[in-house]
Amino acid sequence: MITRFAPSPTGALHLGHIYAAKVAHDIAKAHCGHFHLRIDDLDTTRCRPCFTDAIYNDLRWAGLNWHGTVSFQSERHTHYAKAISQLRDMDLLYPCYLTRRELASMTQAPHGTPHGAPDIASPIVPINTDRLIPDSEQKRRAADGQQAAWRLRMDAAIKHANAHIQTHSQLNWREYALSADAGLKQATPEIFGDVIIARKDLGSSYHLAVVIDDMLDNVSLVTRGVDLQSSTHLHRLLQALLGLPTPNYLHHPLVTDSCDKRLAKRDKAQSIAALRNRGMSADTMMSILPALPDYESVGI
Ligand code: GLU
Repeated sequence: MITRFAPSPTGALHLGHIYAAKVAHDIAKAHCGHFHLRIDDLDTTRCRPCFTDAIYNDLRWAGLNWHGTVSFQSERHTHYAKAISQLRDMDLLYPCYLTRRELASMTQAPHGTPHGAPDIASPIVPINTDRLIPDSEQKRRAADGQQAAWRLRMDAAIKHANAHIQTHSQLNWREYALSADAGLKQATPEIFGDVIIARKDLGSSYHLAVVIDDMLDNVSLVTRGVDLQSSTHLHRLLQALLGLPTPNYLHHPLVTDSCDKRLAKRDKAQSIAALRNRGMSADTMMSILPALPDYESVGI
């Protein structure tokens, strides 16, 4: 059993992060497995080293010690680039020169959830964005040196995955949620439309990076908040296209405040550092976390 906690160092951790880390830590511990720490610092425009140090501090203070060396997305660009050229060689990616504003004015803008995952209830996302502006204009932008984002041609990608997937397996994953959602889940990546796989400013995207990371770190059970569950539909497709193993998944509930609002990094008063500075002990902090579900009962 190898689990992981993968925070982005874009702000101070709050109780929701400690809960997520504890789920991954405790499941690994119960199985004498490994709890891995990965720093998701792909987005260099938003990540700060001081927040990485604070992550180490908060986890150690909470008694959530990780195994082995920490991995960093910022050190894995060559792996991401290799996967992107693999997809490009398969003719599944195309450049998109449209700005966000142009795209929004030409299409119905997608609903925002973390990392641009579509809201499952209203899956309207752009497709074939290369057909929204004439070829000549795309060529002009390329000649001008404008950077392009690379989008997945979703219909071709799904066809390719289904044609190459082993006959006895399917585009699905095993979900260990503690609800009716548990069991084998059929991936429906088409909800993403022609999703961006390589951002023009970063050279990769969250989605591509995490599937490569989970493979590099040999993660066998991805535990993360239920807000990222829709992303798994796309991650499963990318795994199939790139020939990567599929881990199992457990999307856990999110920690909310007394008004039932999910905690946010921008609310500094709720950060772990703020609780510690107000004199709270680590034991007290752990005791106010929602109880961890009984994962044994769902077969983990
Ligand atoms: N780094 C991501 C986040 O903080 C989580 C990555 C993942 O669990 O897939 O939202």
